[in-house]
Amino acid sequence: MLYHIQQIKDMFIERVYKKALKDLGDFYGIKRSIDPPRVIIVDDRKTIDLLKGKKTGRWLVGWTDGRRSVYILNRANFKKESDHTYSKEYYACLIKHELSHLFFSILSGRGVSARWLQEGVAIYTAGQLKLKKRPEKLISFLNYYDTDGDALYSEAGFAIEALVKKYGKEKLLEFIRGSKIVKSQKQFNAAFKKIYGFSLSYAVINKIF
Ligand SMILES: [Zn+2]
Repeated sequence: MLYHIQQIKDMFIERVYKKALKDLGDFYGIKRSIDPPRVIIVDDRKTIDLLKGKKTGRWLVGWTDGRRSVYILNRANFKKESDHTYSKEYYACLIKHELSHLFFSILSGRGVSARWLQEGVAIYTAGQLKLKKRPEKLISFLNYYDTDGDALYSEAGFAIEALVKKYGKEKLLEFIRGSKIVKSQKQFNAAFKKIYGFSLSYAVINKIF
């Protein structure tokens, strides 16, 4: 498959990008200069599907290659090509979310990690919680260890916020760093317990949520 790609100028995206890299560098404590990530704007659903190698849902508007590139649907085509309502704030958060995944991936040594942790941290660091409805209780995010689903996006960010508020950012970063050696869900749960001193459950998280 062939693609045509060229550099573009977009003052808004450039501003969002710079600010996001600064904020994320501060949050993750990654000060050494990382290779500047590439933001690749994709025009339409057809190209998204080709790049992803599968038919994607209209909810999918951004993703990363886990290394150096983030892919984002062209904001001019949001209405036509996705389910989301475009706003500048939504779009800025989306870019920051995808960039956050790249920082997470560096910190975790590209190790295996629960999907709820990856998405939760991306949502939390991107400032997307203010755009989401706060659930009354967290009831299903823990089911998403290696699968995708709605609760990932509606609950996981709030779970991370609760952990950070109660136990601090450093513990969370320590836990993410520990992903390097995690090879299974069992090891993931054990690593959590070792760092936090308790097993994660809905009962525990809802107490601090
Ligand atoms: Zn994500």
